[in-house]
Amino acid sequence: MNETIRTDRMDRIDHETDLCIVGGGLSGLCAAVAAAREGVRVIIMQDRPMLGGNASSEIRVWVRGAKGLHNRETGIISELEEDNIYRNPELNYSVWDSVMWEKAKNEKNIELILNCSCCDAETVTENGVSRIISVTGWQLTTYSWHTVKAKYFADCSGDSVLATVSGAKWRVGREARNEYDEAIGHELADRKTMGMSCLIQARETGRPVKFVAPEWAHVYNSDADFNFVCDRTGNSVRSPKKVADGSLSIADQTINVVTSMSRPHKLGTSETNFWWIEMGGDRDSIRDTEAMRDELLKIAYGIWDFIKNRGGEPNSENWELSWVGFLPGKRESRRYIGQYVMTENDIEAGGKFEDTVAYGGWPMDDHNPAGFMSYEYSFPPSVLFPAPSPYGIPYRVLYGPDVSNMFFAGRNISVTHAALSSTRVMATCALIGQAMGTAASICINKEETPHGVYLNRLDELQSKLLDQGCFLPGFKRRIPELTLGAKLNITDGERAVLFNGEERPDADGKINYVTLPVGGELSFDFGEEKELGTLRLLFDPDFSRKSVSKNKKMRVFAQASSIGFDFSPMTVAATLVKEFEVFVDGEKVFSTDTCHNSLVRIALARNGRKVTVRFGATWGADSVHLFSADIS
Ligand SMILES: Cc1cc2nc3c(=O)[nH]c(=O)nc-3n(C[C@H](O)[C@H](O)[C@H](O)COP(=O)(O)OP(=O)(O)OC[C@H]3O[C@@H](n4cnc5c(N)ncnc54)[C@H](O)[C@@H]3O)c2cc1C
Repeated sequence: MNETIRTDRMDRIDHETDLCIVGGGLSGLCAAVAAAREGVRVIIMQDRPMLGGNASSEIRVWVRGAKGLHNRETGIISELEEDNIYRNPELNYSVWDSVMWEKAKNEKNIELILNCSCCDAETVTENGVSRIISVTGWQLTTYSWHTVKAKYFADCSGDSVLATVSGAKWRVGREARNEYDEAIGHELADRKTMGMSCLIQARETGRPVKFVAPEWAHVYNSDADFNFVCDRTGNSVRSPKKVADGSLSIADQTINVVTSMSRPHKLGTSETNFWWIEMGGDRDSIRDTEAMRDELLKIAYGIWDFIKNRGGEPNSENWELSWVGFLPGKRESRRYIGQYVMTENDIEAGGKFEDTVAYGGWPMDDHNPAGFMSYEYSFPPSVLFPAPSPYGIPYRVLYGPDVSNMFFAGRNISVTHAALSSTRVMATCALIGQAMGTAASICINKEETPHGVYLNRLDELQSKLLDQGCFLPGFKRRIPELTLGAKLNITDGERAVLFNGEERPDADGKINYVTLPVGGELSFDFGEEKELGTLRLLFDPDFSRKSVSKNKKMRVFAQASSIGFDFSPMTVAATLVKEFEVFVDGEKVFSTDTCHNSLVRIALARNGRKVTVRFGATWGADSVHLFSADIS
């Protein structure tokens, strides 16, 4: 129940909920949806008009995650992508915003407070440990203060806005190498971070388009004015001689790198998103944001002028500048110091944690703090160090010992700078958010503490995540007892595959799904009447991605940057099943002809002896690929 107190000054609106999430990027959104689906009342306080953070239309960073054909992220992030492909095949960014917004809106337990910037918190200290009572934010559109009281809070703001007001431990910058014995580390700790960026997008038009550069734009007459000539040998990079204070050096030793990055500006659908228009890592990544934005705009417009008018791209005549980001996207600022600090060494060892609740697999992509200005030092904008894919991320990096009722998820989790350079990618952040929201729901529903979940309810947390379709490397999903007692109309071999608890192909090529004919049926006969709860079906999302797009980068995640004439609309994965019906003891209880998701849960909520699923058309495949089917 919200209470509005009207004063002669600004309105003050009080809310009360179970879980208040500050920040609605992909980590905050996935956390909220996961918690809400566990019956928890959630409020998201988000300072922008839309959800999605860096993935939204305001910033337009591409969602990336673990490398490798079969390592795609599943769970809520894949549900979002599947909805986007179905609703938004042209990859319009405004429609993508609406897909994320409706994901929250469709959950009856989620309340959104948008355009509301959290700026304070009320806390109490009990036995040296802090507890948050409420957070307060200013809503730009209504000129009102919103105060949210909650049992639990989650900081998904990226910048860790609650760090300075909650009593939590946090840090900013790069650790000294000897702190955690990290090879990527620097001799001395500093406050430098990866920078922030304003991206640009262009569109091919079919007619010549002029561009008049603003007077304030920087001028670049050749690549040599801003580009680093990159070493793509994959062997080694040595610290540059021209570094004035040593701070730009990645190391004074030879380090094995995957590759170092240059600043590409070729125009085309599967080409760059201009991530390298980056500044601010050598400044204060929070306080200097406005100054950095002004500088980034001068660079962005200067780069487009170079491309169009100064010979940067010979085929640019018919391309127009379609969008320039005015809100800098942030890569790094404050990170919490949690129950455990995950390091480069943990990543390199494959992250084999007993409390794995998410995973990563992006290389350690360590951006130069000088960002765009790093060219002055003949040093690359980013260096990629190899990381195994997938590696596990432990639960203990999502909460700390200093605040009893706060979680964190996203780029502010308890990792070192080196580890963050991999965990920060958004599909990974989304998994981390889903894990955090699920853990918070256990705290709320079972009156458990965050650390109590680690000590007493880890199996419950991991089982819930596996049931939600999340992949946890090294863990198998348990099949519900009810299902194991049923007789199925498939062979024993097929039954073994369906119930093996593995829901994606193995690295060794084992496909792990059962193939059924279109028009075929799968039935569960329990022999006697049983209480039937939920039917869970997991279809093959097409891990190869070949059926969703012919544009290479769009196969990774359904988002575009520049759009050329070679763009073709996305198509729902051919392996997904569009039409199916469910019968209990011969009575039809569910049917759909618009299904476009890989994970489907249908509430049966009745007693029955036999459940039959009849599969109709797929989105193109000539058979149905089923990773799992069970009833609980
Ligand atoms: C230019 C750039 C390129 C990148 N490239 C990639 C890439 O190719 N692929 C990839 O996956 N990742 C990439 N990243 C990293 C990735 O975008 C971030 O690490 C990721 O967005 C972090 O997710 P998050 O949910 O923690 O934070 P965010 O996405 O930043 O979301 C946090 C949200 O909280 C809101 N917020 C902040 N403060 C408050 C407050 N006080 N009150 C209320 N709300 C608040 C913010 O407005 C934002 O919407 C890139 C980042 C940048 C900047």
